[in-house]
Amino acid sequence: MTADLHTHSLHSDGTTTPAVNAALAAEAGLAGFALTDHDTFDGWEEARAACADHGLEFIPGVELSTEWRGAGVHILGYWPDREHAELAAECDRLRWERARRAEGMVIRLAALGMDVDIERVRAIAGTAPIGRPHVAAAMVEAGVVPDADAAFAEWIGEGMPAYEPKHALHPVEAVRLLRAAGGAPVLAHPGLSLRGPLEDPEPPDAREGSRGGVPLDLVDEMVSAGLLGIEADHAGHPVNVADRWRQVARTRDLIVTGSSDFHGMRKEVTIGMRTTPAAAWTALAEAAKR
Ligand code: AMP
Ligand code: FE
Ligand code: FE
Ligand code: ZN
Repeated sequence: MTADLHTHSLHSDGTTTPAVNAALAAEAGLAGFALTDHDTFDGWEEARAACADHGLEFIPGVELSTEWRGAGVHILGYWPDREHAELAAECDRLRWERARRAEGMVIRLAALGMDVDIERVRAIAGTAPIGRPHVAAAMVEAGVVPDADAAFAEWIGEGMPAYEPKHALHPVEAVRLLRAAGGAPVLAHPGLSLRGPLEDPEPPDAREGSRGGVPLDLVDEMVSAGLLGIEADHAGHPVNVADRWRQVARTRDLIVTGSSDFHGMRKEVTIGMRTTPAAAWTALAEAAKR
């Protein structure tokens, strides 16, 4: 009885429909899965219906974008009330902010001699909030980079010349907001965030954090604000990194989750390659109610 607690669809920067995610989860023999698109709840209805068809447990989720010292930090939230006014407003705001930021990155690319059509970026994103993978896809199409990895590595990755941050909530505020909306906040892939340069690298431990992932001081602030879990077992964490974050979770009484962070064709991971036991996700659901 396991579930994959982190998957994306066409409603953000994945390439599959929520129904396909459900079919893949069923095929992988999972008991359930969470749809956690970036800053939107748009795929929930389709995912819920498809889960019912396959006899799967549907865990409605979101991956909320936050910003710390100019770098992105992702907070997963499960079972939040999507009608919660402040949470809905933040998702709306992020959609507009992402549209603005995509224009900004296209302008930066133009200044660097790369002609990328903002209309193509918008068309690739479709109805999803625009993400950097959509910009990367338009860059590949325009022939200015060989592949999306090169787009991130040289141009639109954090700290690269065409990168533009998106202004978002402080991670601690996002944790508080998700709890206020009745959700269970879980720190996403902490070993993969904050590895680039920070806008303001002081105090010195933040510099440490910028290499080792999310700094523990920040984790502790999030715990005080109501953080319930850590995604230690992420498909992108090497074994030693996963172990370190499992230890961080254990010493703080946090629930450990495991997930693929499936993005369809955009990432070489499969649904179910990392999973969370039923005891952990039911504990998350219970803790969110308290
Ligand atoms: P955004 O939310 O627009 O800042 O874009 C972040 C998304 O870009 C992540 O959720 C991943 O899907 C993708 N991404 C981030 N870093 C990389 C990278 N180095 N290579 C490829 N994709 C990446
Ligand atoms: Fe993504
Ligand atoms: Fe993420
Ligand atoms: Zn994700």
